Amino acid sequence: MSVPTKIWLSSPHMGGTEQKYVKEAFDTNWVAPLGPNVNGFEEDLKTYLGNKVFISALSSGTAALHLAFILLGIQPGDEIICQSMTFSASANPITYVGATPVFVDSEPDTWCMCPIALETAIKDRLAKGKQVKAIVPVHLYGMPAKMDELMRIAQAYNIAIVEDAAEALGSTYKNQQCGTFGTMACLSFNGNKIITTSGGGALVAQNDDLAQKATFLATQARDNAPHYQHSHIGYNYRMSNIVAGIGRGQMEVLDQWIAKRRANFDRYAAYFATIEGVTLQQELPENKSNRWLTAIVIDPAKTKGLDREALREKLLEHQIESRPLWKPMHLQPIFEQAPYYGGHVGEDLFTHGLCLPSGSNLTDIDFERIFNVFDTCFK
Ligand SMILES: *Cc1c(COP(=O)(O)O)cnc(C)c1O
Repeated sequence: MSVPTKIWLSSPHMGGTEQKYVKEAFDTNWVAPLGPNVNGFEEDLKTYLGNKVFISALSSGTAALHLAFILLGIQPGDEIICQSMTFSASANPITYVGATPVFVDSEPDTWCMCPIALETAIKDRLAKGKQVKAIVPVHLYGMPAKMDELMRIAQAYNIAIVEDAAEALGSTYKNQQCGTFGTMACLSFNGNKIITTSGGGALVAQNDDLAQKATFLATQARDNAPHYQHSHIGYNYRMSNIVAGIGRGQMEVLDQWIAKRRANFDRYAAYFATIEGVTLQQELPENKSNRWLTAIVIDPAKTKGLDREALREKLLEHQIESRPLWKPMHLQPIFEQAPYYGGHVGEDLFTHGLCLPSGSNLTDIDFERIFNVFDTCFK
């Protein structure tokens, strides 16, 4: 019997024109961290996000967050409030600028930053005499956070929002693109994201000055002089022209890939509609998620004891990759000492939640294999 091919959680999916842009880069010898593809990809992103924001294409989403914190002038000893339920890349750059991360819980509707926990955190940190300089909400698995409420609180305390939209390119909240709410935002084009450049990211900024400063810092902060002159510490964070070519091709299929991921979610939702004890991440009427990953929560009390790990292992036996939801940052050994505000929404999601195969390249046959395993577990 032949071993079935692996079904991945979320694998790269090329649209077809990516190599044309990469070939152009070779043909014109723009094999460098600048060139027509970098400018073109930035233009494509700007247009896609509604033309009101400014883009700096970078080597990663993590780099974008790092530069955003530098541009906000965050100093050692300052604090940054971050959603706890997220990937560590949301929080790590906080430490790069010497700031202290303060984690807050998610809320049950969207699984994103809880506005109540946020306000509690701000009040308590300020009462303790701390300087809170930024808030980092994360549009988890593509689901928009409650931006109106988060923005209202941020404005009331005059604190900047840096949106982590790494998972949410193409998601909208009240018809506005995720990544266009905060003073700045990060996007990611890592290998498993909704579109990929193999690795890469972008900083989205509300004004051109911030975007230009990000590009300046990302290219070693060279002053305007014929020799190498520096008045700032620089970074090597710029996106390469080769990688940007992949990005330009991927932008041509982004809306199609979103449609496919949303169709994946609908298929899972239809399957679980008749299964006791399994719920899915819900979309509020004002939201449109790109459904980067479909995530479920399993209540073993209603599934005859079948829990998240049992399902994950069963899928793996059949060469199907799935993954527990993010382990909240306040439960990570490295952030043990960090202040935390909230309850156990994130913790419960981690304990009972599983991300299912969600690639835009999943086939009917893949789904048949997945549902066959589900049948043995739930029926
Ligand atoms: C992927 C991801 C990042 C980091 O992006 P990279 O491009 O991999 O550096 C940041 N935050 C979240 C929530 C992510 O999922």
